[in-house]
Amino acid sequence: MLTKCYFCGGKVKEEEISVDFWWGEKLVIFENVPARVCHQCGEKFFSAEVYKEMESGVQKEEKPYARVTVDVINFTELLKV
Ligand SMILES: [Zn+2]
Repeated sequence: MLTKCYFCGGKVKEEEISVDFWWGEKLVIFENVPARVCHQCGEKFFSAEVYKEMESGVQKEEKPYARVTVDVINFTELLKV
């Protein structure tokens, strides 16, 4: 069981979080995902089981219960101002 952050050695805590999950060009947001979150650097760790479940979930054409619109900002454009 992971108790220390793999990256910074900080404490990790079990939490249910929202996850932005990219599958190729497709982005899905999972809610209430059990994960271990580092309280120092914010890194999230998932068990192989949870990760697998998200992988298959993103490929299922299941009807999502919510939908969000996301703004896309081109960083290069941002620097031109
Ligand atoms: Zn960390």
